[in-house]
Amino acid sequence: MTEVENNFSYIDENLRIIHERIEEAKAVYRRADDDVRIMAVTKTVSPEAVNHAVSLGIDLLGENRVQEYLSKKDVYDKSAEVQFIGSLQTNKVKYIIDSVSLIQSVDSLRLAETIDLHAHRQNKIMDILCEVNIGGEDSKGGVSPDMVGDFIEQISQFENIRVRGLMTIPPPSDSDIFLGRMQELFNRLSDEKKNIVSMDILSMGMTHDYAEAVKFGSTLVRIGTGLFGARDYSRK
Ligand SMILES: *Cc1c(COP(=O)(O)O)cnc(C)c1O
Repeated sequence: MTEVENNFSYIDENLRIIHERIEEAKAVYRRADDDVRIMAVTKTVSPEAVNHAVSLGIDLLGENRVQEYLSKKDVYDKSAEVQFIGSLQTNKVKYIIDSVSLIQSVDSLRLAETIDLHAHRQNKIMDILCEVNIGGEDSKGGVSPDMVGDFIEQISQFENIRVRGLMTIPPPSDSDIFLGRMQELFNRLSDEKKNIVSMDILSMGMTHDYAEAVKFGSTLVRIGTGLFGARDYSRK
């Protein structure tokens, strides 16, 4: 191992702990064949550290900011899939449409319409998740839980968008209550809307609550600080 690789050994240890905790939660609460995907959330993290995580088997990266992503993407190991998870302005959709495989943060008709337009121009079908504001918090994006069913029906009309499921960032306190509500909502809508969409992704769980999220049916956990350590926002 070179010295540079050695500097990232904390990531090896963090990932080992994450796998262990996910396996523990799965063993108790889930079916043995359930797949829980780990997304490495890369905001403020150097592309070299991200690539080290990829070398350890991480095959999914989560991007929050368009500018930061564009400045790092050429350095990323191309073997990992990239999904967009941050709030997305419609005028930025065109910069990411060709290089991300899924957009998790769709919460308005206008955004869906713009994604559809640019996906059409690229001759691709863009997978998306509908972001749900499960805690009804003013500070957060997402569709309110009682509107999600109608929203899915509306955006399923777009020909170049495919709804794959739901994403949420629950309030930090009482997160198990909100994770439970998300599980109910996901199960109910997957069933009610099965003739128009086939939902197979429930994206929830971050560093502080991913084991809980696995308990409540998450299929994709998004982990930043738990993998890469505390974020340094002074980094550009
Ligand atoms: C930053 C971020 C995460 C990861 O948060 P951590 O607490 O660092 O694990 C997950 N999802 C979204 C949408 C984020 O912005």
